[in-house]
Amino acid sequence: MYRCLYLLSLAGLLCTCGPAPDSDTDRRGGVSDRPNIIFIMSDDHAQRAISAYTDELIQTPNLDRIADGGMLFRNSFVTNSICAPSRAAILTGKYSHINGKIDNLSPFDPDQWTFPEALHEAGYRTSLFGKHHLTYVPKGLDEYRALIDQGDYYNPTFIHNGDTLAPTMGYTTRLITDYALEELRRNADGEQPFMMLYWHKAPHRNWMPDTSDLPGLLDKTYPEPANLRDDYAGRPRAEHADMRIADMFVSQDLKVIEEYEPNDPGTGGATFWEGGTERMAQYFYNEIDRLTPEQRAAWKPFLDRVGREWQRVKGTDEELSWRYQRYMQDYLASVKSVDDNVGRVLDYLDESGLAENTIVIYTSDQGFYLGEHGWYDKRFMYEESHRTPLLIKYPPLIEPGTSTDALVLNIDLAPTLLDLAGVPAPEDLQGYSLVPLFEGETPADWRDYIYYRYYQQMNSFHRVARHEGVRGNRYKLIHFTEPGFEGYELYDLQEDPMEMENRIDDPSLTAEKERLQTELREKRRELRVTD
Ligand code: CA
Repeated sequence: MYRCLYLLSLAGLLCTCGPAPDSDTDRRGGVSDRPNIIFIMSDDHAQRAISAYTDELIQTPNLDRIADGGMLFRNSFVTNSICAPSRAAILTGKYSHINGKIDNLSPFDPDQWTFPEALHEAGYRTSLFGKHHLTYVPKGLDEYRALIDQGDYYNPTFIHNGDTLAPTMGYTTRLITDYALEELRRNADGEQPFMMLYWHKAPHRNWMPDTSDLPGLLDKTYPEPANLRDDYAGRPRAEHADMRIADMFVSQDLKVIEEYEPNDPGTGGATFWEGGTERMAQYFYNEIDRLTPEQRAAWKPFLDRVGREWQRVKGTDEELSWRYQRYMQDYLASVKSVDDNVGRVLDYLDESGLAENTIVIYTSDQGFYLGEHGWYDKRFMYEESHRTPLLIKYPPLIEPGTSTDALVLNIDLAPTLLDLAGVPAPEDLQGYSLVPLFEGETPADWRDYIYYRYYQQMNSFHRVARHEGVRGNRYKLIHFTEPGFEGYELYDLQEDPMEMENRIDDPSLTAEKERLQTELREKRRELRVTD
């Protein structure tokens, strides 16, 4: 009954074309013409680090509130697994080769269409708090406090509506949330609908936890993934990548200060960069130097114990396991703080009564390796970084506690939000509205395959070969195009979910291989990929 009522309302909503009406909120069966939107994004948050997906690593009770109150997307993916290009894809609803932001270094054309500007023009109050990682702050925002580039975990510098502020003392995840709550309070009883981009820096490298999460952190232990000690047999591109936990920076990543390790042996993904290790170590020491006396006092016993542990395990059989635990401790503590702070926002929505008419989205700019294949970082089309979390809560339209297995992409978010806000979508958007999935069934004409492409050159951070590919519900084909590393890889995700065996030459999969190669050609044509 619940579902039928709201589907009738939805039918009305989907027929709403043209500019959004000027009238007050129209509650047809609880579905508003102009719902509020809170778009929460974190940075590098793997699905495996959200307990709504699996509780093997961490409990995230607040993120789970979004899933429990709405829909969990089990098969949610990105189009290009790296920070700034993923954000550009989300904002434009288009693949990297169309929006132009193909890697972290290429420019993003700030004059192109984005969904925040479209909602602003349709009468929404729009805002951004946190990290956007594009050279230019997205256009069409009424209010923003944006971190510069990657930002800092402690005492960050924000740009407030064009003005660069002095560093603000505090922990960045909390500060971003304070500003988001301030904006919500300003608009709680307003007539104008709002769309807020509440975008965290965490849990991006170098995973510096909040001081309140340091006590007891070094005593936590986590299960190692089965392929932490991957030998990369049959997968030369994976073998060549510089993103192994075994080679992490001992300084910036594992938090061993100079006093305990003056010569960091890590490559940290910077083998292409002469002097990179020394530069990144210095970056970490600068981060410690800029802590306030109180923050430094909280960190001191932690750093001393880490340093002593490093000296004990360095060069022993225990070293890799110790490195993995150190990585997980800091990464998951950074996630915990995101979860705690998202909880503050959800509490406010509940207390203020805004929750009923507010769409809450939680996603990340992509997934991340948490020790799978021995790695940290992202970039590859292998599952852990191809995937990204996606949770959507909107009580009038989405039945609580539902999930879908449909293949969805980050470029689907822009058309989804336009659809829900009754704003017409430009014809050239490449994503699909997710609204038809909200009823729980996947429409018969939903996509069967998704296209992926990673552009950054091999001779850059982490040495990941350029590639593209297609993924269906069971099989995945990756075509590596980097000179010297050309070739195909094929995985049966049902038989081999950790992607340890490249089956490209397996005669029993010839038909699948040909079908995937045809799909790849079709996707390239459909999506206007010309190189
Ligand atoms: Ca990222």
